[in-house]
This record gives sequence, C-alpha cells and structure tokens, in this order.
Amino acid sequence: MERMNILNYLLAAVFSFCAVLALPALEEGIIADDHGLGEMTTADYQVADKSLKTHPHVTLFMTGDVMTGRGIDQVLPYPADPVIYEGYMKSAKGYVQIAEEANGPIPRPTAFSYIWGDALEELERRKPDLRLINLETSITASTDFWKNKGINYRMHPQNIPVLTRAGIDFCALANNHVLDWGYAGLLETLQTLKKANIISSGAGRNLSAAAAPAVTAIPGKGRVIMFSFGLESSGIPLSWAATADKPGVNLLKDLSDNTVRHISQTVRKFKQKNDIVVASIHWGGNWGYKVPGRQKKFAHRLIDAAGVDIIHGHSSHHVKGIEVYKQKLILYGCGDFINDYEGISGHEEFRANLSLMYFVTVDPSTGKLGQLKMIPTQMRRFRVNRASSEATLWLKDTLNREGVRFGTRVILDKKNALLMRWD
Ligand SMILES: [Zn+2]
Repeated sequence: MERMNILNYLLAAVFSFCAVLALPALEEGIIADDHGLGEMTTADYQVADKSLKTHPHVTLFMTGDVMTGRGIDQVLPYPADPVIYEGYMKSAKGYVQIAEEANGPIPRPTAFSYIWGDALEELERRKPDLRLINLETSITASTDFWKNKGINYRMHPQNIPVLTRAGIDFCALANNHVLDWGYAGLLETLQTLKKANIISSGAGRNLSAAAAPAVTAIPGKGRVIMFSFGLESSGIPLSWAATADKPGVNLLKDLSDNTVRHISQTVRKFKQKNDIVVASIHWGGNWGYKVPGRQKKFAHRLIDAAGVDIIHGHSSHHVKGIEVYKQKLILYGCGDFINDYEGISGHEEFRANLSLMYFVTVDPSTGKLGQLKMIPTQMRRFRVNRASSEATLWLKDTLNREGVRFGTRVILDKKNALLMRWD
C-alpha cells in the first residue's frame, strides 16, 4: 500500500545532441549507409532541396531533454549528495532502485559512456557538425535547493564528462530545472559547462547574458547561432526570469508579435550570410500531442519575420508532430532523451521512454531543411538503446498520425531509421 502511495506520488511529482555528409553524393550516401532502400524507392527521398548536391550542408544532432541529474547522477562516478526534498522521496538513490526493480541491475558506478549507450555509435557514424541538447538539470554541488518547487535536479560537476563523452557542443538552459539548486547552482552550471568547452545559451548572470545566443563556426560551411528561450507554460517560475541585475533564465513573457519583434531585432544583430539560426524553446506541458495554435503561429512568425531557420522545441516528455514550414524545420516537442523516470508508472500510452535522435541537415546559404533523419531510441536500465522494431513502428505511426495536420510523414529504412518527407 505504501509502495502504491509512493508510486502515485512519483507519478504526480515527475509529471510536472564535423563533418557534413559527402554531399556531392548525398543520396547515394544515404542508400549505402542504410544498406538498401528497404521499403523506399528513390522517389521517396526528400530531394526538394537540390542544393544538397552542390552546397556544403551542416548537419546538426538535436534531441530533447537530457536529465543527467538525480538518479542518473547517482550511478555516475561522482554522485552528488543524494538528499532530495521531494514529498515522499528523500534520496535520489530511490530513483535508481525503482528503475532497477522495473528492468534489472544498473552498473554502479557506470562508465560515462554507459548512459549514452547505442547513441554513441550513431553519433560516431553520422558525425554531425554540432550536437545540441536541452540540459534539463543543474550541474552543481550546491545545497541551496529551490524551496517549494518539489523537484530539484542536480548533477555533480565532476560528472561533466558524461556530456563531453558524447561530444555535446551546446546546451539550451532556459528551462524549468537550471535554477533547481539556487543561484549558486546556476552559476556553477555555467562555469562547469564553460570549463568543459560546452557552449550554452538561455541562462546567465543577467538578462543580457541569458538572452545572448551561442555562436559557433563550422569551418568551410558557415555558422550556427543558437538562442534558448523558455516559457512559463513549461513550468519555469516567473521569478526565474533574468533581469538587468539578477541571474536567471531567458524567459519569454508570451508568444506575441511584440516578442517576435524583439527576437527579430536580436537576430538581426547576429545573423550574417551562411548563418543558421536555431531557436531552442522550452514550452508547453509534459503530456499531450496537441500543438497550441499560438505555438504554431509563433513558430511561423519566427521563421517569417525573425530570420529563424530551425525551431527546436522541447518540454513534452514524448515526441510530438513535426512541421516543415517554408522548407524550415519545426520540432514542436523532441521528448525526453535521458532521464531517471524508468519504472514510474502513468501515462503509459505516451511511451515516454521512447525518443528520437534528430539528424538535421540544413543548407547554410538558405537555412532550408535538406534532410531530417531520426534514430528511434529507448531508455532501459539508464541506458539509451536503439528502439526495438515494434517501438520503431509505433514511433513511425505516431509521427505520421501527428504529422497529418502539418503535411509531414516519415518512412522507415531497413536499419530502422526514420526519414522525413514533407509537402
Ligand atoms: Zn522541463
């Protein structure tokens, strides 16, 4: 009975990712890479962007929430103090126990590579130019937990190799966990990332630092400019907003035309020829496939009026429908990629342990999407695994069902990767 209560509580509490492809032969490359066309024909490839054959393209690896704190931190080589301040769960070790009860033993300590599992092989094979994640935890040994929040994520700074081991280049920080262990926790997160040569945006010592994009050059191709925005709808306390003299997150007040105008002015200060602008946005709740009209309109306005080329949306615990608007990619919700929710029941229909590695190939001269390839994954024993065939088909069906309203669909290749097609 007590166990049931704990599970019910947990349910209530928790549910609150350089080289371009050899592009002169991109299509052939895809075919070879996947050992045949499978159920595809050549006509199935998205070849709308003919420039794929003539221009150097940039390939970005993106994924949704990477939460290497709490239970995950406890199995890494340098765990933080396990004490947590949740209603029923008083030790982060409890999350390891629940996961082990569900799926079997987890090595302790794990190698830093363990958590990423099969994802490392995919990254090595595809060699994206840049690897972008939403970092859904603070990185700190701070004990100054944010009171009355209920859930406070932290990973010990000595566990930072867990991000460098996967070659993560960029972390979006405008989310509802970066201040979980107070301002000291935020500042330590920023310092730790910087020391590890991981760029970030979306949180900083003051508003101008939090709002500034991360800019990185991809030699011979162009630059990628990454903004990180957060919305209250993702659970970010309003009081977390950075101000002129207070650290915090780059919180957007709303999704209005005024906000678009403001972002547009900032983008104009940075964007040059051959720059790809990414807006990484933590928005909306954890569950549900619905894409609010205001999110869609905002995403379109960012593309139409603010010079944004890719919308990297996250906060939902599961993958959501994908839109390609004027040949620009909109990921409304990338889902959870890594976390310690294993064994926690509820919302099974969303299959939140399933996720995608998004490999986004873009023409830097136009910002247009050339190709989107997605590798289905599945968390088990705190490790990212390639998803089973059944789970892959489920993800395919889900993306197709949710893509109808956006005119997008996915096809499966023989190696269980999903390829996006769009109108
Ligand atoms: Zn979140």
